[in-house]
Amino acid sequence: MENPMETRRQFASDNYAGICPEAFATLTEANQGHARSYGNDPWTARAADLIREIFETPCEVFFVFNGTAANSLALASMCQSYNSILCYEGAHIETAECGAPEFFSNGSKVLLLPGANGKIDPVSIEGIVNKRTDIHYPKPRVLSLTHATEMGTLYSLDELRALTDTARKFNLRVHMDGARFANAIAASGLAPKEITWQAGVDVLCFGGTKNGLPIGEAVVFFNQELAKEFDYRCKQAGQLASKMRFVSAPWVGALQEGAWLRHAAHANEMARQLEQGLRLIPNVEITFPRQTNTVFARVPQANIDKLRGRGWQFYTHVSQGDCRLMCSWDTTERDVRSFLQDF
Ligand SMILES: *Cc1c(COP(=O)(O)O)cnc(C)c1O
Repeated sequence: MENPMETRRQFASDNYAGICPEAFATLTEANQGHARSYGNDPWTARAADLIREIFETPCEVFFVFNGTAANSLALASMCQSYNSILCYEGAHIETAECGAPEFFSNGSKVLLLPGANGKIDPVSIEGIVNKRTDIHYPKPRVLSLTHATEMGTLYSLDELRALTDTARKFNLRVHMDGARFANAIAASGLAPKEITWQAGVDVLCFGGTKNGLPIGEAVVFFNQELAKEFDYRCKQAGQLASKMRFVSAPWVGALQEGAWLRHAAHANEMARQLEQGLRLIPNVEITFPRQTNTVFARVPQANIDKLRGRGWQFYTHVSQGDCRLMCSWDTTERDVRSFLQDF
């Protein structure tokens, strides 16, 4: 019988992990006495300032409960209902948000682009924009990129620039789904500004939850005009926390001394070790380049069953039955070894 209170660390998702100590410490600190509500508190101001420091530019910052809200409200602020949003066919906004981007934008259509290794390219953007220019087609207005991608891969700076140049050429705004932005930064060694506003990103959904926060993502508007009345959009969508300090204080803990990057780098390193171990196992094939904290592996069904029988949890629905193994800020080398041993 499975123990219902089993607390073993798993490779299913980085959102299986708990709260990192730095975020927990400021969460506890924020629980002293009273503070103003609805985001008018010092923690929220400090968290937004830290984000401006990290990106080295003025920008508008809003905290929401999750990534679906961040993405869909950001996208809604970037286009009209008759517009379309271009993204990779396996993008989270298409496959895992229950139509929220279309819902919150009052019907903007999401148009899908193919691509290798979870990445789209300028040629396919050009193709879909030029496919039709008549009034009967939902006019493309936003390019949405996920970085790190759903497949755990990264766009190089040149690839990103080529995409945003193409976007600019066709008058598309650029949205970045950064649910795993920290992992991307930790892996690439690039400055946050280089792969966002300097590369032409208008709005970033900066993920916190998967990198050790209890809850919450930040919507960061580098294009500040787009942030106009975004506060109303958040409130209407049920995303304005009345005790906002408990969403924002953990951000302060994670950001103020660089814990967010340390944790992301650690998760990436654990995935590197896991990949290395898996490569030594016969009949196991790594199916996407491992660049961040995600390993995709094609594993014989008998092994999948055996691993699950031993209590391991992981996803097999993301890429054609491949095992998706996700490392977290708290994954240990022992976890990796013990998983590999159970093969
Ligand atoms: C996890 C994730 C999100 C956020 O999902 P929520 O469950 O809504 O918080 C967004 N984009 C990507 C690529 C993700 O992996």
